[in-house]
Amino acid sequence: MGTILVVAEIQKGAIREASYELVSAARSVAEAGGHEVNGLVIGSGVGDLASEFASKGAGKTLVVDDAAAENYNVDVWSKAIRAAADSTGADLILISNTPAGWDVAPRIAAGLDCAFVSDTISAENGEGGGFNFLRRIFNGKLDAEVSTSGRTVASMQPGAQAAFEGSSEGGTEALSADLSATAKFVETKIAESTGVDLTKADIIVSGGRGVGDPEKFTEVIQPLAEILGGAMGASRPVVDAGWLDHPYQVGSSGQIVAPKLYIAAGISGAIQHLVGMKASNFIVAINKDPDAPIFEVADVGIVADLFDIIPALTAAVSEAKG
Ligand SMILES: Cc1cc2nc3c(=O)[nH]c(=O)nc-3n(C[C@H](O)[C@H](O)[C@H](O)COP(=O)(O)OP(=O)(O)OC[C@H]3O[C@@H](n4cnc5c(N)ncnc54)[C@H](O)[C@@H]3O)c2cc1C
Repeated sequence: MGTILVVAEIQKGAIREASYELVSAARSVAEAGGHEVNGLVIGSGVGDLASEFASKGAGKTLVVDDAAAENYNVDVWSKAIRAAADSTGADLILISNTPAGWDVAPRIAAGLDCAFVSDTISAENGEGGGFNFLRRIFNGKLDAEVSTSGRTVASMQPGAQAAFEGSSEGGTEALSADLSATAKFVETKIAESTGVDLTKADIIVSGGRGVGDPEKFTEVIQPLAEILGGAMGASRPVVDAGWLDHPYQVGSSGQIVAPKLYIAAGISGAIQHLVGMKASNFIVAINKDPDAPIFEVADVGIVADLFDIIPALTAAVSEAKG
């Protein structure tokens, strides 16, 4: 029987939601392939969090609890994860696609001399003890199938799977590892907020890839949001392309919003966007494609060019306001 090792990440004193998403992925691979799922929690004073992880899906959870692991350090994490991989004989090591995950995952694979797949959104058993993954590429335009043989390290995108919500048994087990590090922790800097808090807005006017370029957000989307006294939002490709900052993003890996009015312009309605806004009270969708999935959740659907509709709406509201 093989083993899948799920590496947990702690943020603001709690196990991240993304770690429970890894548990979901691990459990579905384990169910089909007869693997055991094990967790790994790294930090200082993290015994309670490790017990929680063990009982909420990860099963037997190894704990590297050491003052040296108080703050994220790539050397400490590499050594702890490699020690856990050796101790469990893990065939698949799952790490979240977070800044820490991007940093440490390739090192683990290089250190273990095994396959590495980044940015995955799903995992399955493959041939010859390997695994098959889907990776979303080209800014969400394509999903690539990637297969590995033998032991594999994979990083998975937050929001790609639903977080595991069941329970498990297995308890925790202390793991000692050589945590000597060349890298030194200096400080944690949190990026300055842009001041956008979409979760508090009553009205959101969101633009998607269909808006076409960043200037059009300023010229077309923002004026409608402003005149309605609302906020501007966006789909993920807009943020990935650098047109708007991440706080503007609505969806599974952005903000979850439920305003009184949500206007979606040039947004197709992918599931990851819908989970972020479908609880809105009233949804208006504007899309040139009559088959766009956004229309399935819309209260009012307008099949048209957003560049005809949005400026006309802005002008009409302006006129009504006098
Ligand atoms: C792990 C993971 C997490 C993700 N998280 C998120 C997330 O949090 N939020 C999110 O939004 N996405 C997320 N995505 C991406 C998601 O899968 C889709 O790729 C994305 O939502 C598509 O954005 P879009 O609708 O703007 O672009 P597209 O799918 O390219 O759609 C553009 C739409 O614009 C329409 N259009 C084009 N021109 C016009 C025009 N002039 N007038 C009217 N309509 C026009 C087109 O008909 C089309 O329907 C995530 C994906 C993954 C794998």
